[in-house]
Amino acid sequence: MEPQATWSAEPERVDPEDYAAGSPFVRQMTWAPCAACEIQVHAMVAQILFRGLCCPRCEDMLLPASDEPEEWLQRILREEDEMAEQL
Ligand SMILES: [Zn+2]
Repeated sequence: MEPQATWSAEPERVDPEDYAAGSPFVRQMTWAPCAACEIQVHAMVAQILFRGLCCPRCEDMLLPASDEPEEWLQRILREEDEMAEQL
């Protein structure tokens, strides 16, 4: 059986002023398996930089938070903007 997939937290909504309805946008995502719960936990990279990726069921830390979250956040936001422009 395929493991179930779930969000670690609700993904953020985009600001309608940033993207018109129907236009594509870019968000970097990642995921990690929780062996104890047999689920795959998915998250936006920008959300896990500061607090890591935690399993929403057992609250185990699946991926650690970044050592330099501010720096990474700036880089990820810049990359998302650049990629959105290419769509
Ligand atoms: Zn778990």
